[in-house]
Amino acid sequence: MKCTARVFQKALLEWFAASARDLPFRRSPNPYHIYLAEIILQQTRVEQGLPYYERFVKRFPTLEALAQASEQDVLKQWEGLGYYTRARNMHRAAAVIMEQYQGRFPESPELLQLLPGIGKYTAGAIASIAFNKAVPVLDGNVKRALSRLDALDAPIDSPETERLLWKRAAALVPKKSPGEYNQALMELGARLCIPRAPFCSECPVQKQCDAYARNIQDNLPVRTPKKPRPHYAVAVAVIHKNGRYLIGKRPSQGFLGGLWEFPGGRIQAGENAADAVARECREELGVAVRVGGLLAVINHAYTHFRVTLHVYRCTIVKGKPKPNSHTDLRWVVPDDFKTYAFPKGNHKFMHLLAQEGIE
Ligand code: SF4
Repeated sequence: MKCTARVFQKALLEWFAASARDLPFRRSPNPYHIYLAEIILQQTRVEQGLPYYERFVKRFPTLEALAQASEQDVLKQWEGLGYYTRARNMHRAAAVIMEQYQGRFPESPELLQLLPGIGKYTAGAIASIAFNKAVPVLDGNVKRALSRLDALDAPIDSPETERLLWKRAAALVPKKSPGEYNQALMELGARLCIPRAPFCSECPVQKQCDAYARNIQDNLPVRTPKKPRPHYAVAVAVIHKNGRYLIGKRPSQGFLGGLWEFPGGRIQAGENAADAVARECREELGVAVRVGGLLAVINHAYTHFRVTLHVYRCTIVKGKPKPNSHTDLRWVVPDDFKTYAFPKGNHKFMHLLAQEGIE
């Protein structure tokens, strides 16, 4: 049973008109606001992302203000949201739009996709919601809803299924109100067609849903089994001198790029944590340290791996720190930590420094 596009669109749009959440970026079709919301809400729940959206709009009220901000300021506003490449790309894209498009967002999905950090999904969302273009969107919520609608039993994360779903999404998107329709489809996946125990009894497209008709909605979508997340033990040096702590800035490109951190790195096989701290200080900073007391042991999970941080107080006994692995080093008092953007794992022990003072 493949549902007819028109019946599906009508049912979905009527439901959305009656029950859409009142979200600030839905109140006007301002492309900059829609862009901010789409980037911030990628891989982030609305409840978690909304305070960040509001913070960004307040701090950078226009695209021009975002383009002119320092990368550090943008990362600081983003702090805690993860996937920091999104923030850096957003900052770069703002500069490109200012320079190449005189501050006006390009309207076509093809041109939008040439901007840093904008893929097919985000381009579709901006083009349809801000510029009324009849192009599809396919985020995780839409994938799940469409795969149930058609009772797809192929793994949803395979490239073939992804191609199939893009085609299906494109066939369903209406010429009239494509932005409303796309938002309605995303909202359906976010609020009713949720991963576990979907609210089928409240679903506006229940009659068109193959999975519901066959009562297999709880078994869909099918996914390729995930590999377990690797775990790494990491040694961290909290180096202090005259009331200040040494922090380093990570290179802009790559994991946690542009954030500040306490020096350290992975503990090698057969090495104990205290030895690893001393070795990391030698390699990263070119200094010899005296490793003092253990300040904390912190567990933290990233999307693709987990870490246990073994955090030691240290003092330099020989050498002057050089940024061998960082792009910058600073000695900072705890009161000034708030002016730098740190990874979440560092935040889990930084408050101890302010509380306990220096060894
Ligand atoms: S009926 Fe249930 S499974 Fe089907 S689209 Fe609606 S919420 Fe999803």
